[in-house]
Order: sequence, then C-alpha cells, then structure tokens
Amino acid sequence: MLKVNSERLWNSLMEMAKIGATAAGGNTRLALSEEDKLGRELFIQWCMDAGMSIHFDAIGNLFARREGENPDANPIVIGSHLDTQPKGGRFDGIYGVLAGLEVIRILNEENITTEQPLEVVSWTNEEGARFTPAMLGSAVFTKDLDLEKALEISDRDGISIRQSLASIGHVGSRALARTFNAYYEAHIEQGPILEDQGITIGVVTGGQAICWLDIAVSGVAAHAGTTPMKSRVDPMFGVGEMLSSLDSTLCKKFSDGMITVGQLDIPGSSRNTIPALVNFTVDLRNPDDQLLAEMEADVRRQLTDIAAARGLTLRIDRHWLSPATPFDTGCISTVRTAVQELGYSWQHIISGAGHDAINIAKHCPTTMVFIPCAGGISHNESESALPEHVAKGCDVLLNAVLLRIAQRNVA
Ligand SMILES: [Zn+2]
Repeated sequence: MLKVNSERLWNSLMEMAKIGATAAGGNTRLALSEEDKLGRELFIQWCMDAGMSIHFDAIGNLFARREGENPDANPIVIGSHLDTQPKGGRFDGIYGVLAGLEVIRILNEENITTEQPLEVVSWTNEEGARFTPAMLGSAVFTKDLDLEKALEISDRDGISIRQSLASIGHVGSRALARTFNAYYEAHIEQGPILEDQGITIGVVTGGQAICWLDIAVSGVAAHAGTTPMKSRVDPMFGVGEMLSSLDSTLCKKFSDGMITVGQLDIPGSSRNTIPALVNFTVDLRNPDDQLLAEMEADVRRQLTDIAAARGLTLRIDRHWLSPATPFDTGCISTVRTAVQELGYSWQHIISGAGHDAINIAKHCPTTMVFIPCAGGISHNESESALPEHVAKGCDVLLNAVLLRIAQRNVA
C-alpha cells in the first residue's frame, strides 16, 4: 500500500500555522482577511510547485487542479477549508486541504497518472466566524445559497463578502455546481470518541440532523423593589425553569440526541428591573431525522406548558433545519477498504459537527475521514493532533481516492 510522506505533511501544517499564529499556539485566519489571503497564497504556491493549475469561482472557492488522462472526465475533489475561528487551532480544516495536497505530491513522486483530474479545494468561509452562515462557500457552490445574496453578507464592521473578495483578488469564473466524480474530506474529529476508544481512523457515515430554534419569552417589566412577588410575570425565572426542565428530561428520552442553549439575551437589561423579554437559542441534534422532529416537538411542548403555567407569552421560531446527511456508500466503502488494507484501527462514526462535505454530499458522492484530536478539543488554540494520526489519516485518504479511480475505470 502506498503511504504518504508523514514529515512533509506535518511540516506543511506547521508552516501554514505560522500565518496568523497566536501567542497561545493557535491560529487566527478569519475568512477573506489579510491572514486568510496569506494562507491561501502559501497553499497556491505549494500547488503550483506541484504542477497544478489554480482556479476560483465567484465566491472565492479555491481549486488547485492536476489534470487526468481523460480531459472530459469529472474531477475527484479533495479538500476542506483554510479559514479559522477567531482563536482557532492548527488542524480544523487546514488538515483536509493539506492532506489533499500531500496526496497530489505522492502521486507526482510515484509518477501515477489518473483517469480523472484531481482537484484540491479550499472552501470559502467554512467557519462562519466572520460571515454567517458557516459552510458558506460550499453552499454557494451547490446553489443551496444564492450567490448574489451571499456576496452581500457583511461582517460586524459592515464589510461585505463582495468587497473582501475584491480586496484579496481571489475571485474567478469556475462554474458553480459543476459535476464532481466524488468529494473526499479528511478532518480532525473535533470530539472525544476516537481518542477515548483508542482508535486511529473514523470512517464517517454521514452528518447528523440539526434544528435551530429561536425562543422569545415575554412577561411584564417592573420594579425590583416595589412589585410583590406574587404579582410578577417574570420571564427570567420562567426561562430558568425551561432550561432546567430541558436539561433534565430531553436527553434521557433521546439517547443519541444533543441539546445546547448557546445564546441568552435580555434586551435592555438592568439589575433592578424584572425583564420584559428574554430570548434564547436552542440547538438540537440527532443522527435520525424522525427522532430530531420528536425532540423539537418535545421542546415545544415543555416550553409551552411552562409559559402557560406562569402566564408568560412564548414565541418559538424555527431558524434552521438541516436534515441528516448520509454519505455515499460507494465512497464510504473505499475508505473502509483502504483502512482495512492498511491495517489501522477504525470504526464507523457520525459527524457531530457541520462540514463542507455535508453540503457537497447533496451534490455528488461524498465521504469523510476522521482522525483523533487531543481531548476532542477544537475551535480552540490548544487544538492538537498527533503526527502519526495525521499521516495515517492521509494514507487512508490517498488509498481511498486510488480505489475510487480504480472503481471508475472498471465501470
Ligand atoms: Zn472544519
């Protein structure tokens, strides 16, 4: 079995990590910022050194292409993203892009030509930290998100994606939604499962379903000192009861489910006033669409009952629903065969996080390869992975892609 150059891959990761390096060992390369531009340019230089041509589409997705023997064949695409969270790590996304480049470097060294062209992609604004939504470039590529709308999205300083793209110059005319033979994405797991089990490779079978709710609970604003307790309509203690009720019941009922309340806002709050309004968000996840729908119904029922008992007005809006995304069985089996032939420990795993692959899976046969990260920690400067795991994940990626090529030649 062909293996990648572990040292070269690791050195590339560490070299990229110098751009936007933070004091605590992490990275800041916000999408389409000056640092992102420098990171992209380093990647472009490496790709050109590997004999690849560079292309952009209208949202700045960056494609480095190695031609195949059949110019009409659809490309097999490998990649992820180079942008990071404000205080992000050295591996989230970057690993998938540089693993793709390492695959190309090995094929070059081994003089392996392929039927299909191979492309390594860095998708624009995966993190969603500077511009929301997350996974924006891949959504525009698949036309799930309208290009013109996306170009008008602005960051907190009012700078639009259109302006940012123009200033870094990474914009081109590569067609959106063009046909791919397949898409492979290697990524750190961003959770603790592989590390806890002592497993090296996660063969990813798909992404879980996600439901985002916006909740508004209204009561009556009143004076903290003059309003008797019994005559208050206080949304704050109502929300307290709602949160504790969800925390104690929901995941007992739905063992594979997850619930997160990540934002809580009290507009115009003051320490000596009963608030009129409390807003909070709910993020629900489940690998199964039906069970996610039952979780949402359960949340709505619990909140409605608590609001009614306290005389509060409740509004629940569904902000976003993303169905579960099963990956392509053919692509999954190339990863499984590769890892078995390499003899590395592996298990099937569901992706807990969102990834560009979740968007691309609606467009073409897609799968992912996971490797462990220390403590399951990600979106954090201390994010870390072992060189051995980094190399083995890339070995699996390389051999899975080669199996995909072989498969298609036979077909
Ligand atoms: Zn990522």
